[in-house]
Amino acid sequence: MNLLMNPPGSWNESIQQLKLAWQAGRFPQALLLTGPTGIGKKQLAMDLVAFLTCSNADKRPCGTCFNCKMAYEPGASDHWLVPLIIDSDDRKKKEKVDEATSEVLNTVIPNPYHSGLIPSTASIYVDQVRFMEDRLSLKSTGVRAFIILEADAMNENAANALLKRLEEAPPQTYFILTCSSRHRLMQTIQSRCMPMQLPPLTAGEISTILAACGHQSVGADLLGMSMGSVGKAMQCIEMDLDTTILRAEEFLSFVAGKQWSPLFFSMDEWFSKETDPAVYFLEVLAVLLEDGLRKSSGVDLRLPTRNGGGGAHYSPDQVSRYVGVISEAQNRIIDRRGSVSMILQTMALQFQS
Ligand SMILES: [Zn+2]
Repeated sequence: MNLLMNPPGSWNESIQQLKLAWQAGRFPQALLLTGPTGIGKKQLAMDLVAFLTCSNADKRPCGTCFNCKMAYEPGASDHWLVPLIIDSDDRKKKEKVDEATSEVLNTVIPNPYHSGLIPSTASIYVDQVRFMEDRLSLKSTGVRAFIILEADAMNENAANALLKRLEEAPPQTYFILTCSSRHRLMQTIQSRCMPMQLPPLTAGEISTILAACGHQSVGADLLGMSMGSVGKAMQCIEMDLDTTILRAEEFLSFVAGKQWSPLFFSMDEWFSKETDPAVYFLEVLAVLLEDGLRKSSGVDLRLPTRNGGGGAHYSPDQVSRYVGVISEAQNRIIDRRGSVSMILQTMALQFQS
């Protein structure tokens, strides 16, 4: 779904401004797309590249010309700077960088809303900026557009090299930067870009995008968990939210009855040794507990079909303590500080008292 041609309602104004700027010949040469993860910044960046580079004068983007196709082609890595995990020898070789970039694009382009595809330890290196410079030094008569994905992953050298380029951008050249945490991006880079802050999506907008991606009729709990992010909604589908809620409820009922052996047995069955479903389970468990507080203070529930029942038997103090215990367990699982099974058991026992 092309977000430039069919923008979600809450983005409409920003998108219209960009189109008007283009018509007036004032399209920003450096554009910084910011906003929560999973709302569609990558998709919009690709749609913008197609829009800017399309060779069809009558209908832009036409979706069929060579440039439009290249905007969504994982093999066409030349106009992308993406965070890579690559060793210091390889990052100096263009073919190695191209290969690593295409590998990332092979996962990212088919799933532009997915937020977990680029590891947090990956970086954009100065060599990648230099390869982009090499491309820019070639003569060109057409429009060139580059996407700098998760620009806050640039290391300092890369950011300084890019800054120079942004200060003296060649004509007909556009840079589209995306990032979800703007405070991590160098202030000097930010000051060179036109910022475009994209808001979280409404439940209706998420449903529309999910339907376009083949997920029809999603439930109220899934929309509540998504917090305005399509990526988050897709994670809920992938992880099977409904089953996870049942497990979280079962967990709370075992804990209330101090039925430790059946609880430990069930948790081993649910997760075996897998970390992702266990981390997701803990997230749902925390939301379930917090919904009890949300209900008593009249705030919208995130799991409306459960009606705040999960946390109903606990005081606000208990809920905040348990949520802390849950968050600690999540971090321990993510950092692999012990087996999933041991970490969950230790956490469950902290629910006593
Ligand atoms: Zn085209």
